[in-house]
Amino acid sequence: MLKIARIFQIVERVQSAQLQRFLSTAPVLCGKTVQARAVAEKKPAPEEDLSFVMNVFKGQVESTQIFPFPKTLTEEQRETLEMMIDPTQKFFEEVNDPDKNDALEKVADESLKGLWELGAFTLQVPQDLGGLGLNNTQYARLVEIVGANDLGVGIVLGAHQSIGFKGILLFGNKEQKEKYLPRVSSGEFAAFCLTEPSSGSDAGSIKTRAVLSEDGKHYILNGSKIWISNGGLAEIMTVFAQTPVQDPKTGKTIDKVTAFIVERSFGGVTNGPPEKKMGIKCSNTAEVYYDNVPIPVENVLGGVGNGFKVAMNILNNGRFGMAAALSGTMKTCIKKAVDFATQRTQFGQRIDNFGGIQEKIAKMSMLQYVTESMAYMISGVFIVKQETSDYMHIWMITCSRWCSQNFWQYGQWIETLPFGSRHIKMLCF
Ligand SMILES: Cc1cc2nc3c(=O)[nH]c(=O)nc-3n(C[C@H](O)[C@H](O)[C@H](O)COP(=O)(O)OP(=O)(O)OC[C@H]3O[C@@H](n4cnc5c(N)ncnc54)[C@H](O)[C@@H]3O)c2cc1C
Repeated sequence: MLKIARIFQIVERVQSAQLQRFLSTAPVLCGKTVQARAVAEKKPAPEEDLSFVMNVFKGQVESTQIFPFPKTLTEEQRETLEMMIDPTQKFFEEVNDPDKNDALEKVADESLKGLWELGAFTLQVPQDLGGLGLNNTQYARLVEIVGANDLGVGIVLGAHQSIGFKGILLFGNKEQKEKYLPRVSSGEFAAFCLTEPSSGSDAGSIKTRAVLSEDGKHYILNGSKIWISNGGLAEIMTVFAQTPVQDPKTGKTIDKVTAFIVERSFGGVTNGPPEKKMGIKCSNTAEVYYDNVPIPVENVLGGVGNGFKVAMNILNNGRFGMAAALSGTMKTCIKKAVDFATQRTQFGQRIDNFGGIQEKIAKMSMLQYVTESMAYMISGVFIVKQETSDYMHIWMITCSRWCSQNFWQYGQWIETLPFGSRHIKMLCF
């Protein structure tokens, strides 16, 4: 008994401490009061940041970014988006066949052709450079439809535009944009080439190198990459490599990562066979090798030595797309789970009468709602308020981490719901 009373005391103390911290760090206090206090104490004022997620990590609620909900679509943009939803949905219902793509382990030719014709590979390229010029929210809505129908196709599309040529959109100069964006909008695949056998999460440790040629006109690229989505298809690649640069502080030559736009046609670019994957089988994942590839110096992307920043910005910029796609996939899973649960009878009644089944479907619905909310909140905040915060990457990483982790949980629920039939491919969800 004494132990239980003690636990209650501790819980109460923790709760009241949390409450006090919440109240003492309410939005009004976050910025001005902290700074005023710092002035009074003659300490340098801490820099105020309005990032909602960054402040959560500090134990503070800073709601400026999230209330009111970011309104990102003008009437015209909303109408454009609404006009695109039906054809996209129809395409996935009538043309694309996810089972066929899965069996072929590639996107069927007619489907790929249709996706290019729809403009699905060029959603965010400016219209004057051959794209549809959509903003993040419009992009998220269409990607949600893709995720609801065929996540493998989602990877092919995402690897192309969310990361493959995103660097050209974000960091490309005028000439680079004018040269490459029309090409990646009209049939040439793009890929993002960072990961290497000994370099995954620790992206700064890549070994692929590019060294300036004697005449100073080219960088000569050598090395290899693994697990590159669209690696076997791409003509245009954003490749990261170490380059020797002079450290301005010490004058010594050190290696720093630089991003390059590499065309397969430069010569010396080859790739391995598609990896055999357990899921998203129709997406192409391959090793890519670079053997003395001559890259014109004008194809440096974002400045020599700035490649790490370029890579992180590309990855962070695209993360809301993952939440949007998975939100769509989750909706389909819920629909299939409900269809199954309302048709299957055991112990003389439909299995949706059982509490355990109801709980799974309720939790699936809850997680889907949170995922969808995150996707649109973040795509919106990113459009409206990105200039007010240095911490958008924390939003993005939290979002993609949360969504991917919860999708694993989804996988478990969706597998255990039909139980026996899950072992038979054709009957499986
Ligand atoms: C289907 C598929 C498609 C891909 N497409 C591309 C692509 O298009 N382009 C590309 O460049 N790459 C691509 N990748 C590679 C992907 O980006 C890497 O898998 C990812 O960066 C992680 O690297 P890793 O697998 O080597 O894991 P590692 O970095 O070796 O990590 C192993 C484990 O350690 C954990 N870990 C690592 N560091 C820490 C830490 N500091 N704290 C706690 N835990 C840690 C990781 O979370 C993981 O669980 C793809 C991978 C797959 C599977």
